[in-house]
Amino acid sequence: MTKKLLVATRNSGKVREFSRMLEDMSFDVVGLNDLGIDLEVEETGTTFEENAVLKARAYAEASGELTLTDDSGLVVDALDGEPGVLSARYGGEGLDDEGRVQLVLDKMKHLPGWERTARFVAVLALAGNGVPGGLATSEGVVEGAIMHQPIGENGFGYDPVFWLASYAKTTAQLAGSQKDEISHRGAALRGLTATLESLS
Ligand code: IMP
Repeated sequence: MTKKLLVATRNSGKVREFSRMLEDMSFDVVGLNDLGIDLEVEETGTTFEENAVLKARAYAEASGELTLTDDSGLVVDALDGEPGVLSARYGGEGLDDEGRVQLVLDKMKHLPGWERTARFVAVLALAGNGVPGGLATSEGVVEGAIMHQPIGENGFGYDPVFWLASYAKTTAQLAGSQKDEISHRGAALRGLTATLESLS
């Protein structure tokens, strides 16, 4: 029987990316809704790793399945690392992705190109039966810079303002498979490939 892998996130942009990146592995990839899990795990950690680990442990225990989670976000040098672990909630409850992007742009509006450096960071955590030591983690980073205005329709979150100099494009202008090759989540997932393959 194909082994289940719970990808424990409710962010539809991330679900899409994980499903695409895991499609060559022999797992039955399921989401929280597929398993009827309505547990909400509060991200109380101060680092991406703490949050990824606490979500992986909690959802593995709730589901009894091999569980993969990520905590990720945008780190802007000129904003002292903000939005960071608050990326999904930056500016408070009232804002959507577009509002959060605008908030970052407003805070940076006077900054020239060389002061607009930023990175996307993702930490993935894998927990559950069979994982050596019960837990494995992996970090991925992609370096870029923040645009002065949004460009591109693909991706999610801060993609329309995240500029990749080597592609002369934002991550919202890349095709999905291109983003997977260079993304923080793609890099972090490659760090777990050997462990995942040994469990499939
Ligand atoms: P998390 O669910 O706490 O990990 O939230 C991550 C947040 O960081 C997302 O909601 C986005 O705002 C942002 N983020 C993470 N990865 C990406 C990406 O690949 N593109 C754009 N925004 C991202």
